[in-house]
Amino acid sequence: MAFVSTTSVLFMLFILTSAKSIPNYIENRINLIESEVDMQLGSDVILNDDEKQANEILMHWKQKEIEESFRNPQHFNFSKHYFAYKNDIPKSKVYQIIKRMPKGAVLHVHSSLMLSADRLLNLTYEEHLYMCNDDGDLQFRFSEDTPKSPCSIDWVLLKDLRNLNGAKFDESLKEYLTLFSESDSVCSKTNDINSIWRKFEKVSNLVSQLIIYRPVTEKFFYEALIEFYEDNIQYIEIRSGLKTLYELNGTVHDKLYMPRLYREVAERFKRDHPDFVGVKLIVTRHRLKTDEEIRKTINMARQVKQELPSFFAGFDLVGQEDLGRPLSDILPFLAEAKNDLQYYFHGGETNWYGTSADENLFDAVLLGSKRIGHAYGLIKHPSLLMAVKQKDIALEVNVVSNVVLGLVHDVRNHPLATYLALGLPVVLSSDDPGVWGADPLSHDFYITFVGVASKRADLRLLKQLAINSIKYSTLNIQHKEILFRVFYSKWDVFIKQVLTMSATL
Ligand SMILES: [Zn+2]
Repeated sequence: MAFVSTTSVLFMLFILTSAKSIPNYIENRINLIESEVDMQLGSDVILNDDEKQANEILMHWKQKEIEESFRNPQHFNFSKHYFAYKNDIPKSKVYQIIKRMPKGAVLHVHSSLMLSADRLLNLTYEEHLYMCNDDGDLQFRFSEDTPKSPCSIDWVLLKDLRNLNGAKFDESLKEYLTLFSESDSVCSKTNDINSIWRKFEKVSNLVSQLIIYRPVTEKFFYEALIEFYEDNIQYIEIRSGLKTLYELNGTVHDKLYMPRLYREVAERFKRDHPDFVGVKLIVTRHRLKTDEEIRKTINMARQVKQELPSFFAGFDLVGQEDLGRPLSDILPFLAEAKNDLQYYFHGGETNWYGTSADENLFDAVLLGSKRIGHAYGLIKHPSLLMAVKQKDIALEVNVVSNVVLGLVHDVRNHPLATYLALGLPVVLSSDDPGVWGADPLSHDFYITFVGVASKRADLRLLKQLAINSIKYSTLNIQHKEILFRVFYSKWDVFIKQVLTMSATL
């Protein structure tokens, strides 16, 4: 009788069982991956034949880009600072496709930081602009004569400075109008978030001084709309404080003048560009302001709503959440106005789990915020993740902003990857593209598509993100229909362009 050891029997059994179970395993693996892919944002989108063909072209280039980086991570751009690779983006075939794509709406952008530094620099060529340079702290003021406002050195006519210093003057002036610099260390990984924000707010304050002179306000806003329109954006919801505009002779306008003027410029832009659907305004106030100042702005927001109901969208508080007052601190005013004003609060733009900045997310949900700006920390709050899904609260995610303002260094680690995987109601936006030299939206779309979303995420994700931007806008049903019509007709043209591009790419 042949001797068969227990080990041999077990080995034989293992071989037989494995051979039988491997097909099941493979099937189970496919099913498991598919069930997860089905949850992803965009999985419900059904592509027609042309779109499927365009998707193949898009995915060919996306997979190529990712595979090359997967094998050579030392060349992978999205683990570097945005400034290190920003100028290389146009070389990407995926970007070239996304650039042509109609993107629907931008729902999270601060109006004073929409415009690129080059165009802002052009605005400094306007007559009567004076500058005060107090050891690198600049101030601007338009005036017929030397301005009376305080300047520790002397106000000097900018034109004279420019004539005196030649071309280099513009180069150095531009550095004050942007955070972007290839050599700049301020935004490097070693800098803390507060120092980055200090530089950001310095740029922001200087730009504000340039654009509160009424003739420049008009030019600035129209040019900002041109830049957004040229990036294939059909509608914008801007966030802005109610700034006091002035004239050359010193006349100062009341705070409601600015929204009236913005609306007029937006209407003129619409007339000049009939395929642009429009602009709405979310009134903001800095979160460091006193109770009284915030209460006044809430009341003024009510007045804007009454006077310009079709232009007014809602209210928000802005500024660095880590250092600013939390929503819970201003709760009495916010709770009182919650039935009059729709809220679009920034929330959780922080890495500090469990802090007041992080817990703004709870107050945003409880105060009925229609959308949440950034929602970066939301990933750490399972109950809030469920709440935003249930209540259909859109998350306005701004990836490039989060990199530049120091929240995340490698976009593969951005919580947006999970939000997309869970199919949460996400809209992509750009926050302050002018200040870091980004495209109004294309850079955020491209970096998200290749650097954040799954390698498997395809054209359906891009289409769903554009659809979401319209769905979660504050437009009424009738205007949403108009926007959808414009978007879909541009989408068809875009798909045809991709199909013809395949020959040239
Ligand atoms: Zn913002």
